[in-house]
Formats: sequence, structure tokens, C-alpha cells
Amino acid sequence: MAIDFTLSPEVQDVRQRVRRFMDEEVRPTEEKLRDREADRNAYVSAIAGLRQRARDLGLWNPHLPPEWGGMGLGPVAMAFVSAEAGRTGIGPYVLNAQAPDEGNMHTLLHAANPQQKEKYLRPLAEGRSRSCFAMTEPEVSGSDPTLIQTTAVKDGDHWVINGHKWFISGAKGAKFAILIARTDPDADPPQARNSAFLVDLPAPGWEIVRDIDTMHGQGNHCEIRITNLRVPAENMLGERGHGHLLGQYRLGPARLAHCMRWIGNAEVALEMMVDRANKRFTHGSLLADKQAIQWMISESVMELYTSKLMVLHGAYLIENGMPFRHEVAMAKVQVANTLWRVLDRAIQVHGALGYSADTPLERMMRNARSARLVDGADEVHMQTVAKNTIQWFKEDGHTRRATGDLL
Ligand SMILES: Cc1cc2nc3c(=O)[nH]c(=O)nc-3n(C[C@H](O)[C@H](O)[C@H](O)COP(=O)(O)OP(=O)(O)OC[C@H]3O[C@@H](n4cnc5c(N)ncnc54)[C@H](O)[C@@H]3O)c2cc1C
Repeated sequence: MAIDFTLSPEVQDVRQRVRRFMDEEVRPTEEKLRDREADRNAYVSAIAGLRQRARDLGLWNPHLPPEWGGMGLGPVAMAFVSAEAGRTGIGPYVLNAQAPDEGNMHTLLHAANPQQKEKYLRPLAEGRSRSCFAMTEPEVSGSDPTLIQTTAVKDGDHWVINGHKWFISGAKGAKFAILIARTDPDADPPQARNSAFLVDLPAPGWEIVRDIDTMHGQGNHCEIRITNLRVPAENMLGERGHGHLLGQYRLGPARLAHCMRWIGNAEVALEMMVDRANKRFTHGSLLADKQAIQWMISESVMELYTSKLMVLHGAYLIENGMPFRHEVAMAKVQVANTLWRVLDRAIQVHGALGYSADTPLERMMRNARSARLVDGADEVHMQTVAKNTIQWFKEDGHTRRATGDLL
């Protein structure tokens, strides 16, 4: 097997173009906007301007095929684009590759029929609408979608849906939701009990109860009460009983897309750590000269390097149509925890300044805490990894398959 770490000229080119755009236009605008966050109009028009610039520069919809107005990049190239965009807060949105819309676009491409694609994917791809994905419920464990209690009951040519969802990112302002509900309570296996629906929003029976206050403030992660919501039968997305499958399909690449953005965040934190260590003088030398600080830098570097390799391997497997769930589960846990640890060390090296809101680190840290929960908590992925490992060891007599099948 040939392993070649050389980037193709196309990937090199797109990476450089996204980097330049983020460095020269997106980050400076973001910094200016942070200074006058209260001015909503200035904020909206600046972001709209950047989104137009992304279109003009041919960097719009990097994840979509050309027939949907995209750049047609595969997961490997996307890893580079997302890591560059993830170095800024608004970068992914400027490219129209933000969560949860990016994952929803992939889901629609995969599961929607031509009419549904035209109605829901087209406006999303053109940046004229936004969407959300509604699966998690407060009453039952989100880690186990077979427990979903929201019901959908057939009534003529409609489904009538009742239930309760929460942490639905992007719900405020969404033009539609991909909603997972129970259509077949007695189906066996339990994974066949749920179906997915496309819900036009706003709609009678879809009530946004609140934008949940989180440790990162209100981030448009909403609680939704669903009461006798009527959805036309043709709005089922994918086949009846395929809600669980569709969720799994969506979450695989979406998890990796999160990881790619988090790598950009972690790299910024590492650069801030090194920069501060190079400037802060104490006890006769710079922090950068102290072994305790060098250890923090080197641990962060090694963890980030490991994260990058794992993400690239996961992206390679997806791109080549090979089984990827095991490797993506490992990457998700690795990157989420690396982000947390690198940020923690960066704050430590900054001392009281790191604890203050004078640098972006405290905001990044509060945001990063969710990484170990969204798209599957650490323990759920680790359970999958362990189960696979034990099973494959029984089958193969060794653990190579579980460790990436690389050496
Ligand atoms: C910022 C944010 C945005 C989100 N956005 C969305 C969204 O847009 N749409 C959506 O549908 N959901 C969304 N979620 C919900 C997210 O997917 C769930 O929080 C996640 O699936 C975990 O479900 P839960 O919160 O019910 O925790 P639970 O399932 O109750 O789990 C609680 C804890 O139990 C442990 N645990 C769970 N299972 C196991 C196990 N098998 N073995 C050992 N330990 C276990 C883990 O430590 C876990 O953290 C979001 C969450 C956050 C924080």
C-alpha cells in the first residue's frame, strides 16, 4: 500500500485560498465586529458582505457538488478547508458550511427525492434559508435514539406529530427542520421504529419554548414543544422506519466535520500559548524557557498532530467508500478532548489574563465543553470502539483492525 502525504495541487490551492480569505478578510472583520457587538445591523451587513465575497472567490459551498453550486470537494480536501475556516468563529458560516446546515445538506443529498431536493436543498445551498435537525429529547437519553418518544401517527395524507425536543441548534430562524419521530412503535429491531420528516417552519404546533441558556450563553440551541403538528405524507425523508439509519448516516460525516473545525480552534489556542510564552518574563527568563511550560507546549503539539492524522484517516476512509465509523468515533473523542486540554493549557500559560474575557480563550473554552457531548458523548463512542475491538480480536486474534489497520 502506498502512503503519500503529499497534497494534490488542487487541495494545496484551495487551502491557500481559504487561508488567505480567512486571514485577510474574515478575521479582521470578525475582530472589528467583536468590538461593537451591539450594532446588529452592522453585524448582519458585514457577514452578508463576506458571504458574497466567498461566492466571488469561488469558495462558496465547498462541501457540495457543482450541480448544487458547490466546489465539489471530498472529505479530505474539506478537512483542510474546515480547519482553516475553524480558526475563526464565523468562517464556516461565511462559506455556507456551518453546522447544522452542512450536515443537513449532506443528508438531503443522500436521502431526499428530486422534489424535496429542489424545495429544501436548493435554498439552503444558495444561502437563502437555514435549517435544524431535531432528534434529542429532554425526557429520554439522547445517546440512545431507540428511546425517542415523539410520535408520528398517520391521519389520511398527513402525519400528526406530538412530542418534545431540546438542544435543537439553529431552530430560531430555521425555514425547515429534519425531525425524527416514532412512526412504528412495535417494529423489531427498535432501530426501525423512527422515521424522518421535513417540517416547514414556522408551523402551527411547532412552538419554540426557549433558547436554552448554556455555559456559553444562548447559542440558538432551542427547546421545542410539538403539539398536533400536521406534516404532509410526501414530507417523509427517506423510507419509513429509516429515521435511525438516516441519523447514523448524517452523524458520521457531520462528526468528522466538527472535528475539522475544532482542529482550527485548537491550533489558534496553541499559537496563543506559544506567543504568550515567548513574551512573558518571570524568575529570570521567558516562560518559553521553562521546562514546565515546554512540556505543555509539546503535549499540545503531539495531541494536535495525532488529531490531524486521525481526522485525515477518517476523511480518507469516507472518501474511498471504506468502513469509517470506528475510526471516526476515535477521532471524535480524540479531537474533542485535545481541544479541551489545549485550551486549558493555553489559559494556564496566560495566567489571570487567560481567565479574563480580554482574550478569546475563555469564550473558546466554554464553547469547547460541548464538543465532548454533541454528536455522541465520549463514553458512547468509546463503548463502540471497545466493542469493535473485542469482537475483532475474537475474529482475528489481534487488534490491528481496531487500531486503524495501518501497521
Ligand atoms: C451545544 C449542543 C448542541 C446540540 N445540538 C443538537 C441538535 O442540533 N439536534 C439534536 O437533536 N441534538 C442536539 N444536541 C444534543 C446532543 O446530541 C445530546 O446531548 C447527546 O446526544 C447526548 O444526549 P443527552 O444529552 O440526552 O445525554 P444522555 O444520553 O442522558 O447521556 C448523559 C451522559 O451519560 C453517559 N452515557 C451515555 N450513554 C452511555 C453509555 N452507553 N455508556 C456509558 N456512559 C454513557 C455520557 O457521559 C453522557 O454524557 C446538542 C447538544 C449540545 C450540548
